[in-house]
Amino acid sequence: MQIPGHIDPVTTGTVPLRGGNRIDLVGLTREGIRAALQEAGLDAKAAKLRAKQIWHWIYHRGVTEFDAMTDIAKTMRPWLTERFIVGRPTVVTAQVSNDGTRKWLLAAADGQEYEMVFIPDADRGTLCVSSQVGCTLNCRFCHTGTMRLVRNLGAGEIVGQVLLARDALGEWPKGTMAGGAEDEEDDAGHYTADGRMLTNIVMMGMGEPLYNFDEVKGALKIVMDGDGLALSKRRITLSTSGVVPMMARAGEEIGVNLAVSLHAVSKEIRDEIVPLNRKYGIEELLAACAAYPGANNARRITFEYVMLKDKNDSDADARELVRLLKQYRLPAKVNLIPFNPWPGAPYECSPPERVRAFSNLIFEAGISAPIRTPRGRDIMAACGQLKSAATKPTRAELDRIAEEKQAALG
Ligand code: SAH
Ligand code: SF4
Repeated sequence: MQIPGHIDPVTTGTVPLRGGNRIDLVGLTREGIRAALQEAGLDAKAAKLRAKQIWHWIYHRGVTEFDAMTDIAKTMRPWLTERFIVGRPTVVTAQVSNDGTRKWLLAAADGQEYEMVFIPDADRGTLCVSSQVGCTLNCRFCHTGTMRLVRNLGAGEIVGQVLLARDALGEWPKGTMAGGAEDEEDDAGHYTADGRMLTNIVMMGMGEPLYNFDEVKGALKIVMDGDGLALSKRRITLSTSGVVPMMARAGEEIGVNLAVSLHAVSKEIRDEIVPLNRKYGIEELLAACAAYPGANNARRITFEYVMLKDKNDSDADARELVRLLKQYRLPAKVNLIPFNPWPGAPYECSPPERVRAFSNLIFEAGISAPIRTPRGRDIMAACGQLKSAATKPTRAELDRIAEEKQAALG
């Protein structure tokens, strides 16, 4: 049977190079940097040593100029500058909401635009990171899903968002390398809830992270690396709309917290609002959650549930949600997200008293179900409001999309 709706990953374009002929080192593994240095002419031993030093400067110190890498011989720095860069996404616009939420519109080297959001709270600061330009999945309540053109972001473009946020927040460790950075008190290289603003990362910006697995994994490995950004996997959450075949690998190979965009408890409604459900149904999804490596009562899976008026918000829906979570014995918490509107959206948010009643029913069954406070709505930075103007496709891209659609129709 032909499945209506666009549920398979159809992306356009490849990740472009920043810096012309020079190689951007951001997003490469340590081993990748070593190989690039060796390729450029260093011998194996020198390449290994320099890779370690450069890694530390890029990810621990936030340095973007080789000239500032003071433990690398002065004569070698111009040699590096000629061949490599430490890139950053270009900031197109930066906005601040009246609740303190910040949103940046970023441009990649090919002009494709994507957004990232920083949400400050009393006890934490959360960076909401994008994994794709746009999203192929077309969830009906999501603004990002209305973008027609989609490109995967590269690991460098994903980790670049974190680097840029630390630039903007002025959070790189100070001090010099003299005497060894590791000895300096303020230079421990760990994010802490006190002192640092950026403490948590959520892969909840534009895109479906499990449709861009390798690049997301590469980026998060860099973010978690102890000699660098050193963010604990417990402070990172990956949200998926339910790409079942990739969930076990996400748990085994990345190991971060999992959030699942459930949003409905019946096939009929979930098929309508999350079209991926036609491919991977609720039972299959919950079974994959039950098998998610690392999930237990101390590390619960978050089930996201967007509150849509008269669509998925009845008492019966809440009871069915509890029943399903119990049936699959899921170490679960539910996150109720009041629907964030966008121009032309086909839904309305449930009234606040309905959201509270829904939340109470779940709490009464012994499952935590807090209501997420909308943040940054005034600058269109809240969940599901992100969208950038996709660049006009070339003729060749249009032809390719047409061919792929034809192929999908069989
Ligand atoms: N693509 C991933 C992650 C990004 S979206 C996913 O779907 O899980 C982060 C969360 O915001 C998801 O639960 C998503 O369903 C939800 N969301 C999307 N549009 C929304 C809207 N308009 N209002 C509230 N939440 C929305
Ligand atoms: Fe894509 Fe997530 Fe939006 Fe669905 S909710 S369209 S998966 S970004």
